[in-house]
Amino acid sequence: MTVATLFAAPTPAAAPPGNHLDELRSRLLGRLVTADDADYDEARRLLYLTVDRRPLAIVRAAFVEDVVAAVGHARGHALPLAVRSGGHSLASFGVVDDALVVDLSGMKRIAIDPAARIARVQPGATSGDLAGPANAHGLALTTGDTHSVGMGGLTTGGGIGFMVRKYGLAIDNLLAAQVVTAAGEIVTASEEEHADLFWAIRGGGGNVGIVTKFVYRLAPVGQILGGELILPASREVLRGYLDYSVSAPDDLTTIANLMHAPPAPHVPAERVGEVVLSILVCWTGSIEEGERALAPLRALAEPVADAVTPIPYPEIYRFTAHQALPHAASIRMTFADELRDAALDAALAAMERSSSPFSLIQFRGLGGAMARVSADATAFAHRDRRYFVAIIGIWLDAAEDAAAHQAWTEALWRVICPERRGVYVNFLEDEGPDRVRDAYPPATYNRLAAIKWRYDPENLFRFNQNVPPQG
Ligand SMILES: Cc1cc2nc3c(=O)[nH]c(=O)nc-3n(C[C@H](O)[C@H](O)[C@H](O)COP(=O)(O)OP(=O)(O)OC[C@H]3O[C@@H](n4cnc5c(N)ncnc54)[C@H](O)[C@@H]3O)c2cc1C
Repeated sequence: MTVATLFAAPTPAAAPPGNHLDELRSRLLGRLVTADDADYDEARRLLYLTVDRRPLAIVRAAFVEDVVAAVGHARGHALPLAVRSGGHSLASFGVVDDALVVDLSGMKRIAIDPAARIARVQPGATSGDLAGPANAHGLALTTGDTHSVGMGGLTTGGGIGFMVRKYGLAIDNLLAAQVVTAAGEIVTASEEEHADLFWAIRGGGGNVGIVTKFVYRLAPVGQILGGELILPASREVLRGYLDYSVSAPDDLTTIANLMHAPPAPHVPAERVGEVVLSILVCWTGSIEEGERALAPLRALAEPVADAVTPIPYPEIYRFTAHQALPHAASIRMTFADELRDAALDAALAAMERSSSPFSLIQFRGLGGAMARVSADATAFAHRDRRYFVAIIGIWLDAAEDAAAHQAWTEALWRVICPERRGVYVNFLEDEGPDRVRDAYPPATYNRLAAIKWRYDPENLFRFNQNVPPQG
């Protein structure tokens, strides 16, 4: 499959003499934004309100040629190079002080071939950008739980989405990608071409190159039985959810948040603020079977609210729209296989004394299609983990005392730690090399380091969950 000819660029202008940034600017089809520009502050802004970094310059890439120019320029001038697509890195790696930033957020073209059920997507497109056009053809890709997450970062880390049990990770639906290497070459990575690179970009998290185009296989999903089921929070309800979430038919993927019930049209006013288990539901089979499959969840307790109905797939993002708003966060995540009662009790107790009303503890039942891919098929290796658990401290005012919120996250993390069975690379903050090793079992880590050596021996791509090259 060729991806190189899509979205072709015009010829760049010749470079006039000048300082090195002027020279780079003249080679770009997109823009170079520096501190002198009116939109510098907007261009360096990320999702998190507490992050305030000042890069040397930002290449607002318009075509793959701009990415090649930026990579060559960073290498030629020994500049640190950061890469961003949707700007949702939990570690905020997309913008780095004094670095040259390759900003792919403007490269968001999407082309859908409905007959072949294929989408060609640039990395700056978000889950939400793709969901609508795909739905117009009765198709969908399993991506993340929030519409604003960029396909660049989401896919290169793996992509655990609303249909993970039925259709696997986003990378399990990746057919090919166009990649700019550290040498500035544009290559196609697929099972047939640069297969080592293709293995590494599927979970390697940006270590081995910059993806400038993804080719995905889409699933025949137009309508789902989906929405939010809110149950009162108790250990029994949580245990019932956890057991059922991994034993239900694969058509059912759920994401459950222990949280304070939000003010929403479907939540009774007198229950707002109560600690509840909000279960986001995505059933991809027939509606009739879905109603039957949901019965055990609905029977766990008298629901606080039940807003699960037949909806077009993109509508599911309505229930998580608030997650896309700028905020501050303190996050610790782990995969788990068993969750002791003590861990569940600690989570419930933590919610009762959370430092912020917006904080939550997220549980996802995994398995299904994700687990049927072999652990060495991609750089995402935690295939047979049963649960995803994330402690997510959230606050909305950057002036608040971050330490208090971080202490809340850390206190629960200490109790959850014995459950640790690896971490999802895309849910790491900047937590140091040991945690990066948690993301990659030893064989995966070593293979990734060897591929990194082949494609990026000088570790140009190092502002990520870094796996240093190893020859
Ligand atoms: C609110 C929220 C909800 C989330 N929900 C989910 C979810 O449901 N499922 C899930 O799987 N993840 C989820 N995530 C995690 C998300 O997948 C990662 O944060 C991801 O890295 C974000 O991608 P981005 O392009 O928006 O981020 P960016 O900050 O732009 O990029 C993150 C990093 O990815 C690498 N990268 C980005 N683009 C490219 C590229 N084109 N080529 C190579 N490397 C690249 C770079 O190292 C970059 O620093 C969520 C994150 C947030 C903040």
